[in-house]
Amino acid sequence: MNNRILEEAIEKAAIEAIAKAVIYIPPDVKKALIEAFNNEVSEASRLQIKAILKNIELAEKMKMPLCQDTGIIMYYVRVGYEFPSFKVIEKSLVNAVKIATNTIPLRPNTVHPFTGENPGNNIGRYIPYINIEFIDGDELEFTVVPKGGGSEYVSVLKMPPPGEGVRAIKKAVVDAVLRAGSIPCPPTVVGVGIGGGSDIALHLAKKAACLRKLGSSNPDPVLDKLEKELYEALNELGIGAMGVGGRSTVLAVHIDYAHRHPATLPIGIVFQCWAIRRATARISRDGSFKVFQ
Ligand code: SF4
Repeated sequence: MNNRILEEAIEKAAIEAIAKAVIYIPPDVKKALIEAFNNEVSEASRLQIKAILKNIELAEKMKMPLCQDTGIIMYYVRVGYEFPSFKVIEKSLVNAVKIATNTIPLRPNTVHPFTGENPGNNIGRYIPYINIEFIDGDELEFTVVPKGGGSEYVSVLKMPPPGEGVRAIKKAVVDAVLRAGSIPCPPTVVGVGIGGGSDIALHLAKKAACLRKLGSSNPDPVLDKLEKELYEALNELGIGAMGVGGRSTVLAVHIDYAHRHPATLPIGIVFQCWAIRRATARISRDGSFKVFQ
């Protein structure tokens, strides 16, 4: 397969995935927001969720981004060992962000951390951030996540004494949600990454918050129980949608873990705002592709 054809196919698929992600909320998220609306007892919080659902409907109708905050574009890539070319992947994914910024259009968000200079195309050093995993097969699959800044602002890394165990995890999550208040645009998904090192804990937390489907159960029964317990506890805090007071503080708690060093218990906590934007593209070795949510 000619590399140029593959490069064009990846670029096209990524532009389509970015557009889908920023305009259409995934069906599992819409369902969770409707359920939150139906279960909410606070009138103020119900009004906020109603406005969110209206916002989603208008974005779909007008084919416009559902939030003005483009976020930082993240790609989670899974590439088969037999995929014909690895060389073209990064270039195509970066180009797609530049093109999508102009054509959709997207608010240019990325700025130099010291000078504040904005290149105007949502790219920059290490951005879009591209995570690559190798898998069996000959296909390329990637999920694009425009990750909002408000929810990122309240991310937390805790390193409690490891002997404190699950008690420390529960405390860290409850404290983080209380401290975050309205900042991450609730109702949020709280991603919790346990173990590994500091970077691994935060990486797992972000993946859990942004990629895992709402309504899915944790395959580990112990973690599933902990997620449900935390979900109930967090929705008793009274923060509510957009912080106006109510039950709808979180849509879900998603936990993942890695084995850890016996001397450390890293706890990464990453929030995903209600505007959960993700779309996946799957590209075959002949360059044909489909984009889905
Ligand atoms: S945190 Fe999410 S909902 Fe809030 S402004 Fe940013 S992208 Fe939009």
